[in-house]
Amino acid sequence: MYKVIIVGSGCAGLTAAVYAARADLAPLVIDGYEPGGQLSLTTMVENFPGFPDGILGPDLIDNMRKQAGRFGAQFAAGTVTDVDLSRRPFRVMVGKDTHECETLIVASGASARLLGLESEKKLLGHGVSTCATCDGFFYRGKPIAVVGGGDTALEEATFLTKFASQVTLIHRRDEFRASKIMLERARSNPKIKFLTPYTVVELHDPSKQDLEHMVLKHAGTGESMGLDVAGLFVAIGHDPNTKVFRGKLDMDQAGYLVTREGATKTNIEGVFAAGDVKDHVYRQAVTAAGSGCMAALEAERFLEGGGR
Ligand code: NAP
Repeated sequence: MYKVIIVGSGCAGLTAAVYAARADLAPLVIDGYEPGGQLSLTTMVENFPGFPDGILGPDLIDNMRKQAGRFGAQFAAGTVTDVDLSRRPFRVMVGKDTHECETLIVASGASARLLGLESEKKLLGHGVSTCATCDGFFYRGKPIAVVGGGDTALEEATFLTKFASQVTLIHRRDEFRASKIMLERARSNPKIKFLTPYTVVELHDPSKQDLEHMVLKHAGTGESMGLDVAGLFVAIGHDPNTKVFRGKLDMDQAGYLVTREGATKTNIEGVFAAGDVKDHVYRQAVTAAGSGCMAALEAERFLEGGGR
């Protein structure tokens, strides 16, 4: 029986683990299918306070993990396959194993949607990014592309013109899902070139660990064209990792957990949510870490109050 189980080992989950462990709650962290979360898929992180020269995402995560372990956090590999939150202790199933806990912190994150190309996977963090705020700075004076037709893509394209020499916005349809104001703002920006209806079919060159060139296909005619870019920002949405909590925890239409009263309380007493799994607005490592801290403090207070 654990006092606290934390689902997810990204920035939010590991910060919750540091705080819970230092409060002598000996938390169990369940790694999830992407141990380390989104930071483990990126390279240099320059906006996490305290690292004036930046730090590699996997190193930052590794440090947090060691820090939590030093104070007594335990880790279990695997992904949560089911939960029983109908009564306490809560039950958390990881394949054949069942763990019981008095409080649960859900920090299972959100996964950025990817195009699904093999070359895209290989170049993630080496020219391919899913976060303009995080990585835009690296493309000062270089040509880049953004793919997507929603508000995120248009907002990121506009933001990236601060750095890039040119931004090509690639979308698979001629119509945009983005709001009119975002679309007009992007259309009136001389640094943004629209390329529709096109899909991205290949990225070169994974063998050099560097993005140099993309192959696009016209969605109507099937004709191919090439585009030289130094960076590609994939902005086609995120999916919160909340499948196992469906019907058990309150979520919005897109599947993000809804918190109330306090910062991280869910609709079930003793269950808390932290990080990108409940935040589709800021999505930053530092905001996720802050939210993990709040969840651990709220869980601690809940336990101190006798589980009320
Ligand atoms: P979104 O609205 O779901 O848009 C995703 C876009 O990516 C769509 O244009 C979609 O194309 C395209 N797409 C999806 N899968 C694709 C694939 N496999 N290949 C190529 N293109 C693909 O996602 P979002 O832009 O991240 O926005 C999410 C929510 O946050 C929205 O409600 C949005 O309004 C909101 N948001 C608001 C703001 C703001 O107000 N400041 C900023 C950002 C986001 P199709 O259109 O063809 O389906």
